[in-house]
Amino acid sequence: MTTAVYPGSFDPVTNGHMEIIRRAAALFGRVVVLVAANALKTYLFSEEERVALLQSCTETLPNVTIDSSGMLVALYAREIAADAIVKGLRAMTDFDYEFQQSLVNRQLNPRAETIFLPASGTSMFLSSSMVKQVCALGGDISEFVPREALPLIVKRIIDKQ
Ligand code: ADP
Repeated sequence: MTTAVYPGSFDPVTNGHMEIIRRAAALFGRVVVLVAANALKTYLFSEEERVALLQSCTETLPNVTIDSSGMLVALYAREIAADAIVKGLRAMTDFDYEFQQSLVNRQLNPRAETIFLPASGTSMFLSSSMVKQVCALGGDISEFVPREALPLIVKRIIDKQ
């Protein structure tokens, strides 16, 4: 069975992330969504909360599991014998960074091929930071995040103000 790792911050999960997860789940036997646990970064949601949110949004996808780790993605991929590291690409700006990252990852783990999935037209502009900004300024984010995650995301952003 082919295994792919889809890493990210997911702070919080957006419909852009969900689209990549669904498309990866159709391509690979198993997809592990890997939540970054970076102690040096400040997140809106804790590692456990980001995992729980992703779990509730992927319940209907039987070949998708959620994990979190502070390990380098390439080393995590080696540990679970992954065949691929999946990345979503929104624009040329994403590409530049992700291309460099893929070269490093190949060096660290030649077995895992980086696969880029282009964003669709509708989620091209979507990012976790955009969702946070729009919501904090009173905008409606219901079109941007999964239904299951909406109440918690809105509550956290309002509580934080
Ligand atoms: P963000 O950049 O939104 O803070 P992450 O660091 O959690 O998100 O991103 C994880 C992965 O998902 C990266 O490969 C990123 O390029 C991809 N991604 C994020 N948002 C989208 C989107 N709207 N469409 C396609 N891919 C996306």
